[in-house]
Amino acid sequence: MTNSIFLPDHKEQPFWWEGAPRPADDNAVLPASADVVIIGSGYTGLNAAIETARAGRHTVVVDAEAAGWGCSSRNGGQVSPSLKWSYHELVDKFGPELGYEIAREGDAALKWIGAFVEGEGIDCDFQRVGRFHGAHAASTYEGLATRNLKEVPDDIKLEAHMVPKSELRSEMDTDYYHGGIVFPHHCSLQPAKYHLGLLELATKAGAEVVSHCKVEGINKEGAGFAVNTTKGVIAAKEVIVATSGYTGRTTPSLMPWHRRRIIPIGSYIIATEPLPEEQINRLMPKNRVNSDTRKMVVYYRQCHEGKRIVFGGRVAISESSASKAAPDLHKEMCRIFPELANTKISHSWMGFVGYTFNSLPHLGVKDGIHYSMGYCGSGVSLASYFGKRIGQRVLGKKEGIRPLEKIKFETRPFYNGKPWFLEPSIAYFRWKDGRA
Ligand SMILES: Cc1cc2nc3c(=O)[nH]c(=O)nc-3n(C[C@H](O)[C@H](O)[C@H](O)COP(=O)(O)OP(=O)(O)OC[C@H]3O[C@@H](n4cnc5c(N)ncnc54)[C@H](O)[C@@H]3O)c2cc1C
Repeated sequence: MTNSIFLPDHKEQPFWWEGAPRPADDNAVLPASADVVIIGSGYTGLNAAIETARAGRHTVVVDAEAAGWGCSSRNGGQVSPSLKWSYHELVDKFGPELGYEIAREGDAALKWIGAFVEGEGIDCDFQRVGRFHGAHAASTYEGLATRNLKEVPDDIKLEAHMVPKSELRSEMDTDYYHGGIVFPHHCSLQPAKYHLGLLELATKAGAEVVSHCKVEGINKEGAGFAVNTTKGVIAAKEVIVATSGYTGRTTPSLMPWHRRRIIPIGSYIIATEPLPEEQINRLMPKNRVNSDTRKMVVYYRQCHEGKRIVFGGRVAISESSASKAAPDLHKEMCRIFPELANTKISHSWMGFVGYTFNSLPHLGVKDGIHYSMGYCGSGVSLASYFGKRIGQRVLGKKEGIRPLEKIKFETRPFYNGKPWFLEPSIAYFRWKDGRA
């Protein structure tokens, strides 16, 4: 595939920024001290800030880049319970009590974010569209039912129904899938608009957001901390680390304990040029968010205005640039919708999601520093929900202490934040997808 798949004015930046540009450099000055300093201005950091600032704590959020520059303005805008493990898998791993408590977190995060966005009136095109999760092979169709339709406790039951191949056209105009499953309660939103909405709530509550202010060191000082940044030093009573997939990326010496526990993995996305209304509504008649059973994840949807397809996934064996990954994403999109072969790409971009060794997010306190991170590629609801919780934890509220804190935040011998094992793992997943 040549560069001809790109529009002449193709941009290597998130399509979402067109309607919700990153705030211009505000030249904000770093105060000398604060009650709470939050590192990272994505969904985790801002939801924590809303909580602490509303409780009257002088809160300062710093980010090495523009506000929300990380995953929180780059993602696919698909909103789900987000935990990688099902209720039954969690019970097998952690026993009936803790397994249930963790499963409930995913469910609670999904319910909470809808109520939060609507309750606060955040203008972010939040839509309860449901998810179609396709079976890429006949063998994975049965597995979908076994995994998702087993009995679970009533209070965490999430409605779902199977769609056999004979009814696939009701969900999508493709022959690619062998049927699939629908989760009617999953949602979509415009991620960068959601981020700007959070920014407005945080600043209205009194939080200061200082962008282009990279943290280079955190030292214990008296009962609190001295946080060294490129804009000076700030004394903090409490510190929250909300850097997820970017943990230690620019400053490897910062937070080495966390860096050894987070696996940064590039996720790549393209947006197509606007499609004719008839075509996009025929390809995805229910405007759902979509994904499938391949281990090499793909996720796609109509954009918030229903004009373009936004198609993302992990397509490269090793890390790549957004425009280099774009032809492979285009190929994947055409595998599902062959008629898009001549459709051009208007935007391509990428971001680093934070994975963990047990595929679960982690939050808690290490050496007096609060953290929440590792949403494993699906953090719209979880980062928001746990951001709020970590803010509550700083305030000393019991709701801030979560069941996931009982799970060990694992690392591996010789792992220092550079995932050398990514390439062989991805090659294996590709091989497995081909054999399913
Ligand atoms: C391409 C892509 C698609 C995705 N699609 C989905 C999806 O459809 N649904 C879903 O649920 N999730 C999705 N995700 C994941 C989701 O976006 C993230 O889990 C979530 O946004 C994480 O939020 P966060 O606030 O923890 O981290 P981020 O938003 O990544 O913010 C971390 C911030 O920390 C800052 N930082 C790092 N180091 C420092 C430092 N030393 N000093 C100061 N600042 C620092 C960074 O600049 C960055 O802005 C996707 C992610 C990507 C990249």
